[in-house]
Amino acid sequence: MKRSLFLGLLTGILMITAGCEKPPPTESPLASKIRRFAPTTIAADTSTLSKGDRAALARLIEVTKIFDRLYLRQAWSGNEELLRKLQADASPDGKEMLHYFNINMGPWSNLDHDSAFVPEVPKRPPHANYYPDDMSQEEFNAWVNTLPESQRRQATGFFTTIRRDSAGKLVIVPYSQEYAELLAPAAGILRDAAALTDNASLREYLLKRADAFLSNDYYESDVAWMKLDSPIEPTIGPYEVYMDKLYNYKAAFEAFIALRDNEETARLERFASKLQEIENNLPIDPRYRNPKLGALAPIRVVDEVATGGEARAGVQTAAFNLPNDERITGAMGSKRVMLKNVQEAKFREILTPIARVAIDPAQQPWIAFEPFFTHILAHELMHGLGPHNITVQGRKTTARQEMKDLSSAFEEAKADISGLFALQYLIDRGVVDSSMEQPMYVTFLAGVFRSVRFGITEAHGRGMALQFNYLMDAGAFEYDESAGTFRVNFDRIKDAARKLTGEIMTIQAQGDYASAKQMLDRGAVIRPPMGRVLDRLAAIPVDIEPHFPLSP
Ligand code: ZN
Repeated sequence: MKRSLFLGLLTGILMITAGCEKPPPTESPLASKIRRFAPTTIAADTSTLSKGDRAALARLIEVTKIFDRLYLRQAWSGNEELLRKLQADASPDGKEMLHYFNINMGPWSNLDHDSAFVPEVPKRPPHANYYPDDMSQEEFNAWVNTLPESQRRQATGFFTTIRRDSAGKLVIVPYSQEYAELLAPAAGILRDAAALTDNASLREYLLKRADAFLSNDYYESDVAWMKLDSPIEPTIGPYEVYMDKLYNYKAAFEAFIALRDNEETARLERFASKLQEIENNLPIDPRYRNPKLGALAPIRVVDEVATGGEARAGVQTAAFNLPNDERITGAMGSKRVMLKNVQEAKFREILTPIARVAIDPAQQPWIAFEPFFTHILAHELMHGLGPHNITVQGRKTTARQEMKDLSSAFEEAKADISGLFALQYLIDRGVVDSSMEQPMYVTFLAGVFRSVRFGITEAHGRGMALQFNYLMDAGAFEYDESAGTFRVNFDRIKDAARKLTGEIMTIQAQGDYASAKQMLDRGAVIRPPMGRVLDRLAAIPVDIEPHFPLSP
């Protein structure tokens, strides 16, 4: 999975949220679906932007509107016409449907197995509008097998649609041609913005991206995006392939227009400069430590200003890794972009109400966004530390390979718990302020409930349940039976987090699949006290519905 939605796996959400609300008696079924998305203002500070960048930003926000149209067109051949119909419908029902259409960017409810909520709309087409509505997979497979290699690559590539010619034969159409009507004005806007900004790397990216819209070759502009060093951090293009349910070949258009968070970027750099020292002090046998960490994959912390296309649909993205093009990721890795103001909104609208239910009232004052976000940063950085390339009985291999199906859950658990270990290490040495200590552990405990709320089949939730039960058994978390709440035992948590970090990393270093399995089988479960708390979270929103003041 390339992106984190902050809420656990979408399919997990689908299973639980249907039918678990008690709507007011007057509320329509659609209104109760809409109520799962808390309306939230997503603001960003533009005051430090130069005059040129401010003008460029205004132009880039315009591009998001074009990307909405591109995405609607890609999702379903009937989408744009349906939207016009809903916009013209002044009835209360019509208005409600339009509202929910805008949340989902289409007539299917993402949180309800993509079920249609507008009458007479067909089931969501698995081929989206990337392939002809009357094409079968057999026909496509047979056709692709007749193609020469270069055309086969095109047919199965990210940036082409498949259509029929006048004789009914399947043909390849590049996005630059299929969507020329919208991509040409989008390219024009990017060029205008490029002329306005005073940042050279942004100008380079925008010009190359504009070229890509017309040439259909995205490589150079993806490279320019990786090298972006600019107060404005836009991500504009065809990227994720989830909507192509037939093959996961075709990329959907989306746009994130964001501003770099300079304070967090500086903090990230401060952490990054300590990573080798943390590695050298990991609670594992010294021979498992990496004496020379590789270069750090780029991480950007940004605030969202506007989104368009797929980025607007359904559950809001809280962080993403791009690009997906393996020519780039193979040579220079991928860049992780963390949307801080989106995470803050989700923290406020979802995690805070969860904490009010799940956490001992005496410890609730310690729930705070700063330790929450700092731990997320630590989690991302800690993925790069600990055993990765390992030797098992003289054989060179990787922890990932040896952990097989358990590798993701185990690696996520490692990043979480070693994130706590690393922050404690930095607190003990005065690099991170000691006022962070108690809030960090209590906020982490509240976050456990957010992660496992939608089930423990997905790697993050599974890894979280493992940590939670380990820390319960170690007496580091405690359950108050009469109040039905949990609390942190500050006398035990530090040692327990250190010990669990060591156990998980040692299993990874030894490629010990059997021990990993034993640990997950025992720990990655929902025991009754946690289950009872989860039952009491049903009415808390599932996600946010963002409103961008700069992009009304
Ligand atoms: Zn992770």
